[in-house]
Amino acid sequence: MQNFEAFKELLGSPKKIAIITHPKPDADALGSSLGLAGYLKKKSHTVQVITPTDYPKFLQWMDGNEGVINFEAEGNAAIAQQIFHDADMIFCLDFPSLNRIGEIGEIVRNSSAKKVLIDHHLEPELFADYTLSKTSAAATCQLIYELITDLGDADKIDLSIAECLYAGIMTDTGSFRHSNTTKDVHLVCAALIDKGVAISKVNRLIYDTNTEERMRFLGFALKDKLIVLPEYRIAYFAISADELDKYHSQTGDTEGLVNYGLSIENIVFSALFTEREGMIRISFRSVGNFSVNEFSRKYFNGGGHKNAAGGRSLVSLKETIQKFLDVVPQYKQELFVSDK
Ligand code: 5GP
Ligand code: MN
Repeated sequence: MQNFEAFKELLGSPKKIAIITHPKPDADALGSSLGLAGYLKKKSHTVQVITPTDYPKFLQWMDGNEGVINFEAEGNAAIAQQIFHDADMIFCLDFPSLNRIGEIGEIVRNSSAKKVLIDHHLEPELFADYTLSKTSAAATCQLIYELITDLGDADKIDLSIAECLYAGIMTDTGSFRHSNTTKDVHLVCAALIDKGVAISKVNRLIYDTNTEERMRFLGFALKDKLIVLPEYRIAYFAISADELDKYHSQTGDTEGLVNYGLSIENIVFSALFTEREGMIRISFRSVGNFSVNEFSRKYFNGGGHKNAAGGRSLVSLKETIQKFLDVVPQYKQELFVSDK
């Protein structure tokens, strides 16, 4: 962060602080928000975490979860607007540009609060007064740990905060399997374990709390919906709203599905298309050089990281898949030479 001393001074006296993260927050988004909130509360600030939408049950164990305001839930939009209006500072976590949070983006932009962006996605927008953007960081939770440490407050990280931060790092590295898993990642996690984090407990809370229906859905998706195009080294799933309904799919139930495509021998690009809330939500994953961030930005109104990105499409599922199939041939050579 460029103007770190001014930032530190600003936090030197109690402030009213709002924290916002991206829609459908994942463990990194929610963990960084609640971890930071836990720390700021200890420093005598008044803190409110706001999420644009709901989020999966398997994240709701995090300390501070019960106080989160879901902007989308009935009656909450006005309350959240007031909080943004009254705030001295707004922290934006785990997303790079205000358009990523839809209508809330303009509320944040127009607020007189000092804005702080802490994120690890590509191409950050320079809207904030204080920006901590590091694309080399595996997770926003890692940046929150480093920030608290740089503020000289490592001792303020208690077990609850440490669990939130560990969860985000664990999931954004794919359980320490992706290429973003660096020595620093392990050092930060070692420090969090020193705070008492029980690795097996966090793993169970995140990964082993599936409903039976989610497992049946996974079976159905792998058996009937997985399409493999070996000639392009691509695998993809297209799941309709009816199919999601049939399995009573909840927020978060499709998370992780896209990774199964990448686990197939020789596949370097995997995609998941789901028909939800009147649009097609898309997840892209790759290994090696192929940038799904660029691909998603170019064709599917999205973005993210080089090897993990999301996007959306406003035409039908069928038309979206057709568009995907129309554009992939031009990447055949690039996908062919991609390392695995
Ligand atoms: P996921 O596929 O797990 O939803 O998201 C993968 C990555 O892409 C995450 O870092 C996420 O923040 C980002 N991402 C997901 N959806 C979108 C989107 O619609 N727009 C942009 N810019 N990024 C997204
Ligand atoms: Mn993240």
